[in-house]
Amino acid sequence: MGASRVRDLFKKAKENAPCLIFIDEIDAVGRQRGAGIGGGNDEREQTLNQLLTEMDGFEGNTGIIIIAATNRPDVLDTALLRPGRFDRQVIVDAPDRKGRLEILTVHARNKKIDPSVSLEVVARRTPGFTGADLANLLNEAAILTARRRKEAITQLEIDDAIDRLTIGLTLNPLLDSKKKRLIAYHEVGHALLSTLLENADPLNKVTIIPRSGGVGGFSQQILNEEMIDSGLYTKAWLYDNITMTLGGKAAEVEVFGESEVTGGASNDLKVVTNLARKMVTMYGMSDLGLVALENQSSDVFLGRDWMNRSEYSEEMATKIDRQVRTMAVACYREARRIINENRALVDRLVDLLVEQETIEGEQFRKIVAEYTQLPAKQQLVVSSSTQS
Ligand code: ZN
Repeated sequence: MGASRVRDLFKKAKENAPCLIFIDEIDAVGRQRGAGIGGGNDEREQTLNQLLTEMDGFEGNTGIIIIAATNRPDVLDTALLRPGRFDRQVIVDAPDRKGRLEILTVHARNKKIDPSVSLEVVARRTPGFTGADLANLLNEAAILTARRRKEAITQLEIDDAIDRLTIGLTLNPLLDSKKKRLIAYHEVGHALLSTLLENADPLNKVTIIPRSGGVGGFSQQILNEEMIDSGLYTKAWLYDNITMTLGGKAAEVEVFGESEVTGGASNDLKVVTNLARKMVTMYGMSDLGLVALENQSSDVFLGRDWMNRSEYSEEMATKIDRQVRTMAVACYREARRIINENRALVDRLVDLLVEQETIEGEQFRKIVAEYTQLPAKQQLVVSSSTQS
């Protein structure tokens, strides 16, 4: 019935002109025709054709403006984007800190929030959150507050809700076991590197309280909000982040040997590959020099990924893979060196982590400073990113 409904919609719009038509999730009908993996979808194509016809049918100025929203502009049928149809695109990015603060203020209006809570601090801690994420965050915090039989949402519930949304539900701690120690070494590896590397972001906390989704623990950094909001990463920061991300595996291997290494580092390796690939193919930060081989959005939008892959030759692809590998190997070596040189410190931190289950950044830095000099940058701010 899609096509006839489109006809009705435009008929109604014309009767009510001047008027606005808003179509949400336009990709549901506006997807590239004939590109579906499971073959075409007749009804959807008819709906889209009708929509295109109606949009063409406008004589100069019928007083109807059509606005549509989508998260997948890349998969839209090109006919939709021709002049006279959707000829302007407005990109609505994830909000910046000021935007997040305003969104939080709106969603906080109908909730009881303790006066000690600073939405400014919450906004600072949530870079990358969309409007929907922020609404969800305050709802989660409200649920936690009710469950804890509190009168109003405090900073604690908001912090727990952030962890829950970004990492997962808290599960019961493991009993002391080899597995627990292995996880502790892995996480201390990340945490120590984020404390000792000159350009890594400082540690917020490290914990081995497991989370749903198979997360045994995590090491959380204080987010570099400016860099994330602007998307302008420095080479030094990227390098140190790759090294820090490899710190988990490096610590496991240094302590337990290659044969005992768990699969727990597989996600870390994905992160590393992703960062290193970006440095090579997008930012021109490798020996391959100043070439942008991939579009900014290619890895976000699966639909276009296939095409971009073939924009460079097999030979170039091999060179890229080799560069990515070289970078990762150099960073891994550095990670192992740092763990190895600080082995006594690593053991002490692991003992403490197994006993306490969580170490806050400040306590962590204090202990590290007893053994070795901290880089200048390790001062405290709020906000966090996570490495499991
Ligand atoms: Zn890890």
